[in-house]
Amino acid sequence: MRPTMNSPLISIRNLKVQFRGEAGQLTTALKGINLDIHPGKVLALVGESGSGKSVTSMAIMRLLPPDQTLIAEDSQILFEDQDLLKASRPILQQLRGSDIAMIFQEPMSSLNPVFTVGEQIMEAVMLHAKLGRRAARARALELLQEVGIPEPELKLRCYPHELSGGQQQRVMIAMAIGCEPRLLIADEPTTALDVTVQKQILQLLAELQRKHNMAVLFITHDLGLVGEFADEVAVMRHGEIRERGSVQQIFEHPADPYTKALLQCRP
Ligand code: ADP
Ligand code: MG
Repeated sequence: MRPTMNSPLISIRNLKVQFRGEAGQLTTALKGINLDIHPGKVLALVGESGSGKSVTSMAIMRLLPPDQTLIAEDSQILFEDQDLLKASRPILQQLRGSDIAMIFQEPMSSLNPVFTVGEQIMEAVMLHAKLGRRAARARALELLQEVGIPEPELKLRCYPHELSGGQQQRVMIAMAIGCEPRLLIADEPTTALDVTVQKQILQLLAELQRKHNMAVLFITHDLGLVGEFADEVAVMRHGEIRERGSVQQIFEHPADPYTKALLQCRP
């Protein structure tokens, strides 16, 4: 069945995740959450530290350590009609390299310090688009321009540590965009940056989201950041979705006391 315009790109159904401790005890990180992300829309997942936001994103990417995690039998993460929780390795690899891309809080945790920026972007685009080196270099240059990095020719030859934190995050965004994903998961992408740089990165993400019509799962602990970027907000606490709705609904008529408390914490 081909999905229609209104059907979600990703449907998370009853996702329950537990971690097994060293003594065999189980702690529950997600208590059976449900979430839909629609094509071309931005869903902000907001909640305090430890609420289960990153576990949700790692579950979508199938990056939770299998020997330490227990996912309930009836949990589903449907990407269109495919259940990612049951997908084979080759299918997952295909999805991660092209349909779904991810950026994290710390760009240096994903960038390799001993390879140049150019080499790393080229590798990502060569994998995704099966380009030769020459075409991949041209594409890498184009991507650096697209994410607003000054002197892209020069930056291509730089090592990650020679760039500022904001520029490193722009490189990560370039690599993600280079995969032409239909879903971008951004897990606290601005948390490690200075406030002014935070704004610029958020603006860049919003611009690229519109231009490429990507769906974005924007994860943040800061409800103050989502207003201009998100279409919908899901508020998470202690492994549960407490409330979800349009930005306007959540900001103007929050129903849950926790959402109200979060709104009061905004600067
Ligand atoms: P958030 O991203 O909202 O700050 P996380 O999703 O990282 O929170 O964590 C949710 C809960 O799951 C936390 O209690 C955290 O300690 C626990 N957790 C996350 N990863 C692991 C792991 N690999 N092993 C055990 N517990 C984990
Ligand atoms: Mg997190």
